[in-house]
Amino acid sequence: MASKQLHVALLASPGMGHLVPILLLGHNLVTHHNLRVTILAVTATTTHSLTQLLTSFATTTNLSIIQIPVADVSSVLPSDTKVITQICVMMRETIPAIRTTLSLINPRPLVLIGDIFSTESWQLAEEFGIPKYVFVTGSAWFTALFVYSLVLDKKVVGQYVDKKEPFEIPGCKPVRPEDVVDPMPNRNDEAYKYYLDLAIGVTLADGLLINTWEDLEPQTLDALRNNESLSALVKHKPVYTVGPVCKRYEPEPDMLQHEVVKWLDEQPDGSVVYVSFGSGGVLSVEEIHELAWGLEMSGQRFVWVVRPPVGHDPDSSFLKYGQFDGPCDYLPQGFLSRTEKVGFVVPSWAPQVEILNHASVGGFVTHCGWNSVLESITSCIPMIVWPLYAEQRMNATMLTEELKVAVRPEVLTTKKVVGREEIMRLVVDLVSGERGKAMQMKMNRLKEGAKKAISENGSSYISVCKFIEDCWYRIIS
Ligand code: UDP
Repeated sequence: MASKQLHVALLASPGMGHLVPILLLGHNLVTHHNLRVTILAVTATTTHSLTQLLTSFATTTNLSIIQIPVADVSSVLPSDTKVITQICVMMRETIPAIRTTLSLINPRPLVLIGDIFSTESWQLAEEFGIPKYVFVTGSAWFTALFVYSLVLDKKVVGQYVDKKEPFEIPGCKPVRPEDVVDPMPNRNDEAYKYYLDLAIGVTLADGLLINTWEDLEPQTLDALRNNESLSALVKHKPVYTVGPVCKRYEPEPDMLQHEVVKWLDEQPDGSVVYVSFGSGGVLSVEEIHELAWGLEMSGQRFVWVVRPPVGHDPDSSFLKYGQFDGPCDYLPQGFLSRTEKVGFVVPSWAPQVEILNHASVGGFVTHCGWNSVLESITSCIPMIVWPLYAEQRMNATMLTEELKVAVRPEVLTTKKVVGREEIMRLVVDLVSGERGKAMQMKMNRLKEGAKKAISENGSSYISVCKFIEDCWYRIIS
């Protein structure tokens, strides 16, 4: 058994938030567990940031990347279709291309791992007679709500967001109505039906790999494995913790040349707040203005990745892999010149991990995408949470109320505009106040826990070994 190399195919749906952790998981399986990995990256468009990302993994021995252009669904879907519906339909229509690609790979993969949007491909795993595992790129708490949505759908009458009481998830922390995952707020939208289909797909996998670690979410992980009501939903299949799967900071000469890194080199330690809303987050004009004024009034140093405003709906931008063009003329008049000495504005895309690991950075205003959360934890940077879409409201609640490594505005960022005074207060408190220091200490413990989990003989390392052992068992029996 040990003499044969396990060949795994990893399937990623369009969008940075899934592709990044899939590439990193593949890299981890190759470099730390001696597997052979083929990554099938279904991509919607080719942008500079995407090409850069794929190129950075291309030279890894035993790791191949095959880009599969997503099927053109523009004639089937209206342009205002929700992103979750778009991705589901794209993945479904791309199945024939994935089948052809899989059949041409030599030697044939023995295992298929797909993200939550890839579960349509379970039919291919059946055809090829190989086991199929889902890689949940979010938290265990999100995973629990996701599969339990199948029960809530039958139990709850009316809209989830109209309920007053939190939703009980067996063995887990309850989820407040305003925190539910994005397609849940509107049960009448067809995106909600697709969401439930995805949840069914997860329950049909031969096992779940989750981008978390035992010490971070012990209660939820225990519930997913041992609470009868929850564990039965995933047919008592194994739950492996593989996280944190996130980019680790390794100084790269190219990045050190990056203008923003050069600017950070000149700032005092811990003095800069980094502001970024992931690969797809966009703010309204009003939000951009309030944020700009809040930053300026705080007098703190900042790096801000800015995007053109498209209103609250990120759907149209999510599949662009962070590529947004044009001048920053949507910022308040004179903002750039007034903040020239303390601020650095990056249009579109910035080297996030390099920034978070820079000594001058002391805080992060984040939309709470799970990758950003993990990158912040592993860089030991406390946060101001500004959730926008997907499961980000749950992540924000976990960070502020449970882990206590972040603060949040009083208003819900998905419902109301955060005012400049509040932004100013939060930023000052985070970067130079006592609260920031207290959070930093808690962050330190989390960071150490994360490091331990992925080190040799740490809980996630052992969990991946167990996953590989179980794969072999399934393949042979
Ligand atoms: N990212 C980056 N530069 C940017 C914006 C995002 O490198 O300017 C990376 C970020 O480090 C993370 C990923 O893109 O790895 C975004 O994933 P996340 O889950 O945080 O959010 P999503 O984009 O899926 O909403």
